[in-house]
Amino acid sequence: MPLQRIPPGPLPSDDQRSSASIAQATAESGLRQRLARMAAGVARLAQGIEQQLSRNTEGEHPSASGLKAGRVYLVGAGSGAGDLLTLRALHCLRQADSVVYDRLVGDDVLAMIPSGVERHYVGKARGHHSVAQEQIGQRLVSLALQGKSVVRLKGGDPGVFGRMGEELAALDEAGIRCEIVPGITAASSACAAMGVPLTDRAHAQTLRLITAQQCREGGEPDWASLAREDETLVFYMGLNKLDAICQGLRGAGLADDWPIMLVANASLPDQQSLIGRLEDMPRRLAQSPLPSPCLIIVGSVVTLAHQRLEREAHAVTEPVTLSNV
Ligand code: SAH
Repeated sequence: MPLQRIPPGPLPSDDQRSSASIAQATAESGLRQRLARMAAGVARLAQGIEQQLSRNTEGEHPSASGLKAGRVYLVGAGSGAGDLLTLRALHCLRQADSVVYDRLVGDDVLAMIPSGVERHYVGKARGHHSVAQEQIGQRLVSLALQGKSVVRLKGGDPGVFGRMGEELAALDEAGIRCEIVPGITAASSACAAMGVPLTDRAHAQTLRLITAQQCREGGEPDWASLAREDETLVFYMGLNKLDAICQGLRGAGLADDWPIMLVANASLPDQQSLIGRLEDMPRRLAQSPLPSPCLIIVGSVVTLAHQRLEREAHAVTEPVTLSNV
């Protein structure tokens, strides 16, 4: 609509002018206040929309840090060694506003978190229980709702015995978007460090990752289904269940001399291992206790680790001569 000019009226007297200017000033200040209130309302609305978008839309709203604001990244830290962290995980650590981590994340990995990034430890303190899973979920939700990009850093792969399902459920319930960055699980690290494959055409056509926690509170793994010679069994969280595992598998038909290997602190400088048979491993562990975290690997692939160690010992002790090079 075109603007209309208002024709000027007769000029007011001095009295009229002063009462008119008071009235005008009052009106202006009222208008300014209303405008200020409206501006604040618009700003609040814009902020709310911005937060909502960063939670609910794909791609468009990175936080100042580069990851997306109000989003949670469930990131695998690998099994301890810093150089087993994936590039994607490293990118997340460098860009995050907050990192929520627990006990199994290696020191080398923690050292890669930039100093300005908020850290939240939710692992077990000495002599105490870990932070309850429900509280971890709440913490993730609350940080994300503050508009932060949150990295939830877990040892190994977040999807392998990492209680990722519960965290995903808490985030879903709160309407918070989430991305998953896989990590190198302890089974892969331990076998790689021992120089053996997890599966092998000649040894194991199936791989099973098992939580030994099933051995607790009356729950028993299905030993009969586990006691197979064409599989590699990897027990997580099993160090204090070794007796039950060896007995269960022998009871279900695996031979007493079936190969078993324990690998503690896999991939770390203080890695330790024991290689033996189902019948003698509990005794050997009692003689040479291993620290936690420790993995138990059962299966024919373990014989390859044994052969490799023997070859290496031989290579070290045998003097190098022209005839054996
Ligand atoms: N998400 C982790 C597993 C968490 S459950 C992963 O993918 O590796 C914790 C168990 O993992 C420990 O009790 C232990 O059995 C195993 N574990 C984790 N890190 C390990 C390591 N560096 N060496 C040996 N076992 C490890």
